[in-house]
Amino acid sequence: MAEVALAEIGKRYADGTMAVEKLSLKVADGEFLVLVGPSGCGKSTALRMIAGLEEISEGTLSIGDRVVNRVPARDRDVAMVFQSYALYPHLDVFDNIGFGLRLRGMRKNAVEPRVTAVAETLGLTEHLRRRPASLSGGQRQRVAMGRAMVREPAVYLMDEPLSNLDAKLRVQMRAEIGRITRRTGVTTIYVTHDQTEAMTLGDRVAVMRKGRLQQVAPPQELYDNPVNVFVAGFIGSPPMNLLEGVFSEDGDALRLTLGDRTIPVGGTFLQNRPGLRAHLDRRVVVGVRPEDLSDATLDGAGAPAVLTAEAELTEALGSDLYVHFSLPVPAVVSEDTRELARDAGAEPLSERADRSTVVARFSPRSAARPGDRIAVAVDASRLHVFDVETGRSIR
Ligand code: ADP
Repeated sequence: MAEVALAEIGKRYADGTMAVEKLSLKVADGEFLVLVGPSGCGKSTALRMIAGLEEISEGTLSIGDRVVNRVPARDRDVAMVFQSYALYPHLDVFDNIGFGLRLRGMRKNAVEPRVTAVAETLGLTEHLRRRPASLSGGQRQRVAMGRAMVREPAVYLMDEPLSNLDAKLRVQMRAEIGRITRRTGVTTIYVTHDQTEAMTLGDRVAVMRKGRLQQVAPPQELYDNPVNVFVAGFIGSPPMNLLEGVFSEDGDALRLTLGDRTIPVGGTFLQNRPGLRAHLDRRVVVGVRPEDLSDATLDGAGAPAVLTAEAELTEALGSDLYVHFSLPVPAVVSEDTRELARDAGAEPLSERADRSTVVARFSPRSAARPGDRIAVAVDASRLHVFDVETGRSIR
């Protein structure tokens, strides 16, 4: 087991693409760290550099107390699990799991107990004599895990290992990976573009964008205190609503103007965010999570901050009612929000959008239906504020 330390790691591909820039990260011994970000942000490249499958252009990589920039992959004491399991079709489960050990010259009678133990942990004991073609997707995934585990490496490196599984199996295998890695206590670096996987698996989550690390923090910290618009919009489902607004002083408190609407904001909001003072009476990006918007007729009676609108779409999930509505507030159009929309597969944002769509997470007891006038209570104490120009959080 070992700590993994990246110091200002960079990767320039032969064609000049700077895939990773100045990536500094310390993964503690036994920690589960998730690298997450949109497609093309450099996560796989980072992982492949740690694995030794890609040359490091800049910076220093250490595993344990050894600098390994020039150490070949097989001598780094890491084991990689890929999204394509790359199992050997002509070998049975036992031989697939034990293959790497045999390749390293380990004797058959030494390999056997290790394969048996790993198969036991993964629930593969009764399938040891089967070939990959006759296994389910989940079982193949387990064999691929087994191949990494049997080597008893210091570090597991996983590159979207669940992306070939259907939704239900993904959730099951996600829990299993979490359980196994915690039990073995092996340092794990896990790459995914799925923020739910990132949030549920990671002790800490590192969000990357365009080759650069944006923020690394425990999942809840990332969710509660995103450092910029990009992290705010990327982590959370449905995503944080982002609107343009202006805060102004109003006696001891504040008011927030959103298009033609104004809502009161308590004075403590400014005390908790001294940085906001410099942005009063100026345009800022206001972020509000769907769960901080509720049905005012249910639980917001007497709430000071209420927005009225027309419900355009409702989605009843049983546990929640998602209500979509729009406000005559300019949408936030920036490089960040464009990239977030692209990543979510949403319509490209129009530069002239003068209305913003907002999603609220109402209680399932809400009677809101499409076409209804709704009163939306805003928990103004939980608003997020970002700089319009830089996208950085204002605290
Ligand atoms: P991710 O895993 O986040 O999807 P990658 O690490 O695969 O991102 O890629 C990061 C960037 O590097 C992308 O712009 C990608 O097109 C580029 N890239 C990846 N592999 C190569 C390569 N072999 N040669 C040139 N560019 C590459």
